Amino acid sequence: MNWKEILIRYGELSTKGRNRNAFTGRLRDNIRYAFADLPKMEIITERDRMFIRPNEDETMKEVLSRLPHIFGIQSFSPVASCSLDLEDIKDTAVRVVQAIEREGKTFKVTVKRSYKPFPLETNELQLLVGSHVLRNFPEIKVQMKKPDIELRVEIRREGAYMTAEVIQGAGGLPIGSNGKSILMLSGGIDSPVAGYQMLKRGVRLDAIHFHSPPYTSDRSKEKVMDLAEKLSRFGASVKLHIIPFTEIQEEIQKQIPENVSMTTTRRMMLKIADRVREETGALAIITGESLGQVASQTLESLTAINAVTNTPILRPLIAFDKQDIITIAQEIDTYEVSIRPYEDCCTIFTPASPKTKPKLEKVEFYESFKSFDDMLEKAVTEREICVFPIKKDDKFSGLL
Ligand code: ATP
Ligand code: MG
Repeated sequence: MNWKEILIRYGELSTKGRNRNAFTGRLRDNIRYAFADLPKMEIITERDRMFIRPNEDETMKEVLSRLPHIFGIQSFSPVASCSLDLEDIKDTAVRVVQAIEREGKTFKVTVKRSYKPFPLETNELQLLVGSHVLRNFPEIKVQMKKPDIELRVEIRREGAYMTAEVIQGAGGLPIGSNGKSILMLSGGIDSPVAGYQMLKRGVRLDAIHFHSPPYTSDRSKEKVMDLAEKLSRFGASVKLHIIPFTEIQEEIQKQIPENVSMTTTRRMMLKIADRVREETGALAIITGESLGQVASQTLESLTAINAVTNTPILRPLIAFDKQDIITIAQEIDTYEVSIRPYEDCCTIFTPASPKTKPKLEKVEFYESFKSFDDMLEKAVTEREICVFPIKKDDKFSGLL
């Protein structure tokens, strides 16, 4: 089959008015990045659609397999081409219908005749192609309204172009079109899903993780690195900041009454995340918090934690049920990593009965006996930074 190009539809993008050029430019850059190993590829941007020409027959399949993971693409269709010879057109039409993987029982042909000197009228060509396809697929019937398969034929000066399949894209907005935020990435199920949700809304990510050796093992750190790597497969690199948190956690154990130590721990994490955010030029902080899931996720608790900063905290999972979060985690392939049994720094220090309704004044009062500032500064300075995907060679390896 002579697959010529892929037609890409933006959907939500094309409704963005004056921002449109910035959005389509970003999508184009992201597609380039995702296909950096295919330098011959051409991208042609039009007002409300885009064409990709792989320009190498054998790469078409590869391109089609990566496109469903790029945000900002509503749907796409492989386009076949042939000469304007009628036999060639009929033959190609059959092969295009044959190439569709899903089953279809009903069918119609639509013809667009952009090249006016073409000898057949629109209706004539429709009939010719339609009856030829039906002869070759006796099990399908013509249906004008909502057929399973719509074969679109466009006659241009340089040849005939055909598509018959609309493949669902990832939707959302191109990564980077909505700035950058910092994701608080634990080893749990929720935070990678929260990061994915924001990537899908076009937000670029840095991630921050707090670990407390020797209470937490290298394995738990590796787990978080694997999660960051999984997130980087959605088409943009992810920088992970790993914060040494042991000293601060031990100090909290000493200074703060046990039933509010969880709140203080979260507040210290958020303060550090906010410093790293500022340094990296990110605008918001993302967490995997979901209302009512655990003691630290009541509204009272979120209020007491949130009080350390005015930075917007994005909680895309706040109203999600756990099962729905798990379903997404499975879809994006982070679930299996998240359920590896290594302890998180919070789990280890979790008191027997943390307050579900901590009072901000009380927490601030207990914290006032000790200045944590120097320790926070030191933790930020001594952080370890890794960037994902790790490029093993020059060939881009960052997509699913
Ligand atoms: P998750 O599944 O994301 O770990 P959780 O249900 O276990 O969430 P908590 O442990 O209360 O909930 O954590 C709430 C949020 O705080 C997490 O989603 C994450 O954004 C952040 N967080 C918790 N622990 C860490 C950590 N060690 N490093 C970075 N962020 C963390
Ligand atoms: Mg957790």
